[in-house]
Amino acid sequence: MKVCTATENAKNCNCTYPCSKKGICCECISYHRRSGELPACYFSPEEERSYDRSVSFYIQSRKK
Ligand code: SF4
Repeated sequence: MKVCTATENAKNCNCTYPCSKKGICCECISYHRRSGELPACYFSPEEERSYDRSVSFYIQSRKK
């Protein structure tokens, strides 16, 4: 079984929201998926800071 790489993941995480899931990508994506959202790493730094993680915001931002 693979060991969790949360510490390494956190170093590459662009999320600026204070959150206990930072670096624990399995919990992060599961949490946002339940809400119809995507994790911070799908968004640019500017988009990420809006804290809008919705799929509709992601699609809209890709059309620019
Ligand atoms: S993307 Fe969401 S769940 Fe993941 S660390 Fe940021 S706020 Fe937490």
